[in-house]
Amino acid sequence: MNRQEAENRIVELSKLLEKYNYEYHVLDQPTVPDAEYDRLMQILIELEEQYPELKLQNSPSQRVGGEALEGFEKVEHRIPMLSLSNAFNEEDLKDFDRRIRDRIGENFSYVCELKIDGLAVSLTYENGLFVRGATRGDGTIGEDITNNLKTVRSIPLSLTESVTIEARGEAFMPKYSFEALNEAKRESGEEPFANPRNAAAGSLRQLDPKIAAKRNLDIFLYGIGQLQGNTVASHSDGLDYLKKLGFKTNREWLRCENIDKVIEYIESWVERRPNLPYEIDGIVVKVDSLTHQEELGFTAKSPRWAIAYKFPAEEVVTKLIDIELSVGRTGVVTPTAILEPVTVAGTTVKRASLHNEDLIREKDIKLGDFVVIKKAGDIIPEVINVIEEKRTGIEVEFYMPESCPECASKLERIEGEVALRCLNPKCPAQIREGLIHFVSRNAMNIDGLGEKVITQLFKEELIHDVADLYKLERDRLLQLERMGEKSVDNLLQAIESSKNNSLERLLFGLGIRYVGAKAAKTLAQSFETVDQLMKADKEQLVAIDEIGEKMADSIYRYFEKPEVKELIQELDSLGVNLTYKGSKPDAGAEVDSYFAGKTIVLTGKLEQMSRNDAKAAIEALGGKITGSVSKKTDLVIAGADAGSKLDKAEQLGIEVWSEAQLQDQLN
Ligand code: NAD
Repeated sequence: MNRQEAENRIVELSKLLEKYNYEYHVLDQPTVPDAEYDRLMQILIELEEQYPELKLQNSPSQRVGGEALEGFEKVEHRIPMLSLSNAFNEEDLKDFDRRIRDRIGENFSYVCELKIDGLAVSLTYENGLFVRGATRGDGTIGEDITNNLKTVRSIPLSLTESVTIEARGEAFMPKYSFEALNEAKRESGEEPFANPRNAAAGSLRQLDPKIAAKRNLDIFLYGIGQLQGNTVASHSDGLDYLKKLGFKTNREWLRCENIDKVIEYIESWVERRPNLPYEIDGIVVKVDSLTHQEELGFTAKSPRWAIAYKFPAEEVVTKLIDIELSVGRTGVVTPTAILEPVTVAGTTVKRASLHNEDLIREKDIKLGDFVVIKKAGDIIPEVINVIEEKRTGIEVEFYMPESCPECASKLERIEGEVALRCLNPKCPAQIREGLIHFVSRNAMNIDGLGEKVITQLFKEELIHDVADLYKLERDRLLQLERMGEKSVDNLLQAIESSKNNSLERLLFGLGIRYVGAKAAKTLAQSFETVDQLMKADKEQLVAIDEIGEKMADSIYRYFEKPEVKELIQELDSLGVNLTYKGSKPDAGAEVDSYFAGKTIVLTGKLEQMSRNDAKAAIEALGGKITGSVSKKTDLVIAGADAGSKLDKAEQLGIEVWSEAQLQDQLN
């Protein structure tokens, strides 16, 4: 980028960031996710570092927050309420640590705190009595919101000591209040708040305190602005003192001796974060000693002794390049957004399901649009909304086709459903998807047979239905691309052991409409063999708890089909187990065995019996098998080459058995 281009970009970015700032801080109505704001700010900061002379006088990189709203009295902060500089990864944290060590040496510690996603407020007490509460505003001038803050129950109106203090903290809206508020807003046709932070800010900046009073706000205090007649030596002492005065402080803070401990603390919160009843968007790291803080000082916008580590963004902006269609196992045609690859919550996202045409219309999604993508925790990425102001006019409306993209039969919209469906039972896509479902984890759970291999076998015409899986030949498999001796042997072994699965896995794997894993188990428990299930009439099916009319009808019609009868016979002759091997309902309560009521984890390779058999045997004796080791685990059975689960069991002091001990007990 040359100087002229840089200048144009700086002006353009500054303008845009000012607009976003205004929407976020003044209106409490952001139009882009925080990550988009942070990304643009990073670009601006880098350009300003490269061309310091081009930096605008009032650059958003140098300003805190937004201006105070008309209608509120203005409050001047004698000690400015600043922002925090950001760290987005380990490297940023290590740079921060290096800068500090360069200035104050090695002998110091940090305090880590949760970065509560609310808004900063200042609370002033004179002789122990609450006299004024204010927003941060632009850092120097805030808004007087005393009456609104008085409605927050966790703010004490008088303190336990008669001190004069200006305390600072984060007012926030707990998750449950936020959800309830947005639900109510949606019901009354109002625009919901984008996030709890904006909801909290919007509630506290209402002229009528009755509104704030209804919003269930809360607060954590994390700092002291001014304090008369008393002193504290460190930030951590300050937190203790605030607590002693009767303020609510967050108990999760931790003193860390060095940056590696800080990083450990941060990592621990990445996992625990979803369990908190309030939102956090990062971790704040502060140098503990106030003498050190003074030595380090401030930049125009933030203290040099603190940094806010921001968690990987869960909402980002990217371009929707195309919409692809896929046909599922039941013939439903699903549109999927193909996106310009983007990092969301730490992983690269390239696709997001758009579910159906109604959703595309509702969100007004067009090809070429810039869209906001969200991914919370492990959840599949989702398109939240379109950024309309980024449209250039060349975006194209998308319509679903009239015929199946795989087999060209006409698509139907079944009454009462939003989905479009291909009704051709021979549609190759549906057959392939059915096979993928058959081998999947909750169904026959055949290791090494993922989507890719199934697609390959299907394309090579080695499998046409699920019975063909049990007829695969070693020599033929060896001729396939990317199939070595070892992988073929493992694959055949996994297929072979799936023959011993208990009946519910097969029932679920067959993909009978409306029969999920749970219903499959109920059916298997009730009828015990496929034969009995096939003989059952609708009345017998409906008589079972959890099996409704619709499911009963679907099961009955499925087993009525001659081709299904043939398939079951074939599976039988191929040696696939067709009986239930697990416990009877509630058996755990009645069975008097060592395993009854215990939670057990199987790990490593068992030599004497397959995992599935071990599982079925333990379950039959009332034990519960789970996949991961936790404090709730009673027993871990470790076969050969057991790895991390065994380590964890040992760490937690959980009883560990060898396979031989299991055999003894079973015998
Ligand atoms: P910040 O949110 O990055 O960090 C500073 C703030 O953290 C403090 O003012 C305080 O309110 C809060 N905080 C929470 N817990 C704390 C603790 N334990 N100790 C100290 N402070 C704590 O900075 P900011 O200046 O408030 O806001 C800037 C950020 O806001 C941006 O990085 C961006 O993510 C977001 N923003 C978004 C938009 C948008 O349009 N989406 C616009 C402007 C700003």
